[in-house]
Amino acid sequence: MASISLPAAPRRFKMYIGGQFTDGLSGEVCTRHSPGHSVPVAQWPQGCEADALQAIAQARQAFDHGPWPRMAAGERAALLFKVAGLIEAHAQEIGLIESLETGKPITQALGEIRAAADVWRFAAGAARVVKGDAHNNLGDRVLAMVLREPIGVVGLITPWNFPFFILAERLPFILAAGCTVVIKPSEATSGSTLRLCELLHGAGLPCGVVNAVTGLGDAVGQPLLDSGLIDMVSVTGSTGTGRKAILASAGNIKKLGLELGGKNPHIVFADACLDDAADGVAFAMAFNAGQCCVGASRLLVERPVAAEFTAKLAAKMARIRVGDPLDAQTQVGALFGQAHMEKVLGFIEQGVRMGAHIVCGGARTDHRDGYFVQPTLLTDVRADMPLMREEIFGPVLGAMAFDTFDEAIRLANDCEFGLSASIWTQDLSRALRASRQVRAGRVWVNTTLDNGPETPLGGMKQSGLGRETGLAGIEEYTELKTVHVNLQPRTHWID
Ligand code: NDP
Repeated sequence: MASISLPAAPRRFKMYIGGQFTDGLSGEVCTRHSPGHSVPVAQWPQGCEADALQAIAQARQAFDHGPWPRMAAGERAALLFKVAGLIEAHAQEIGLIESLETGKPITQALGEIRAAADVWRFAAGAARVVKGDAHNNLGDRVLAMVLREPIGVVGLITPWNFPFFILAERLPFILAAGCTVVIKPSEATSGSTLRLCELLHGAGLPCGVVNAVTGLGDAVGQPLLDSGLIDMVSVTGSTGTGRKAILASAGNIKKLGLELGGKNPHIVFADACLDDAADGVAFAMAFNAGQCCVGASRLLVERPVAAEFTAKLAAKMARIRVGDPLDAQTQVGALFGQAHMEKVLGFIEQGVRMGAHIVCGGARTDHRDGYFVQPTLLTDVRADMPLMREEIFGPVLGAMAFDTFDEAIRLANDCEFGLSASIWTQDLSRALRASRQVRAGRVWVNTTLDNGPETPLGGMKQSGLGRETGLAGIEEYTELKTVHVNLQPRTHWID
């Protein structure tokens, strides 16, 4: 029984271009069904290339001639703080949009919206500390200054798994830097982005600074990658979409920020507190139904405790409350869609065919209104199985045993991705040695999925390029310019 009712009709949103809310040029509409209930919950325009080109032109105009890049950082900060307050004031409403469109539990969605407001506040404050440098040690003749300038117009392409939170990890930093932006949210989960545009408009953001176009990636995302009027594109999504951005940038040499996939190891050493580690691993593999780029997807356990640990973990996983996203007690909601659920189940079936053993889970749950999969633990897996190499993006974890520290590190790094890793041990020096040797943008020791806007995030290897959040998250959207000033009469080169 749901504690919040489903909407009687889908909520209708509009795109936001040049300070106007619009249905777009095609007149076509995209309808999103809640993946937890299979009922229509939201609609927005099915944008086309011409909509994207209009949005790009508006963002270019706002950057080249508008007030936003030229105003004092303190003024930009004041507006971003105001937006943070508006997000908090509308957290229930945005949380519901997010839960209905993604299938994530309502309590989790609400937590993400409130955490997003906190990220906006961090970026607002950080706007005022962005600065350049001066070189006063170049001799009597010259003084050099290094100016940090906004990079320009940014194309911001976001995925469906954390639509509002991922936006918060990028958009306020882009705005704090003084840039203007065209956002292309996932075609399936655009509602919270478009609702944010309404809040930005109400807060008094100058026209054209933020624009949002909705529709399919090939139709409205690719024009952002291809445009010569855009200075940088930030893509959060699959490695395949990252590759498309790299290919497009070969033609126009724009800067890229890429936050892509992961295949994140959890290394459990024999001396770890096994109860804490089991709880942490269960959380990291099942959070957001496993559709989390930094979630746990490979478990490496030191052999003497492997059987004991997998038994503890399976007992935890079996107690995870999977169900109706609108029930406040639910811990894990629905997967994003039917095709995605079938892909996740396919990895399990293929693993079993190749010799893996299901310790718990392994199938859909009994809720057949939506796309729910039981948290699944597999043993007897090998490092070369697809389920241990490819991003599954579902609540599925394969477990392997290791014998030595070096073997654990080798297995952890035997992967094309390098997004995150978690290390469980009570030996601090072992934890630090492992943290140094694991190739990942984020490492957690005796914890996992901890986060805060103060620290940078991003990936190594094929997990991406660049960093978001922290001060690095603003600097990412700036350019350095060096100015040399002559302080002496010129010694002529030609007499
Ligand atoms: P996709 O790569 O399928 O999509 C991401 C975005 O790119 C969507 O808005 C999509 O549009 C758009 N897109 C698709 N094709 C193009 C194109 N030709 N030009 C421009 N844009 C395009 O990823 P998902 O949405 O499926 O998200 C899941 C993926 O995101 C996972 O691989 C996950 O690991 C990764 N991710 C990484 C994070 C990180 O920080 N490293 C954080 C969160 C997720 P549309 O789908 O509407 O067609």
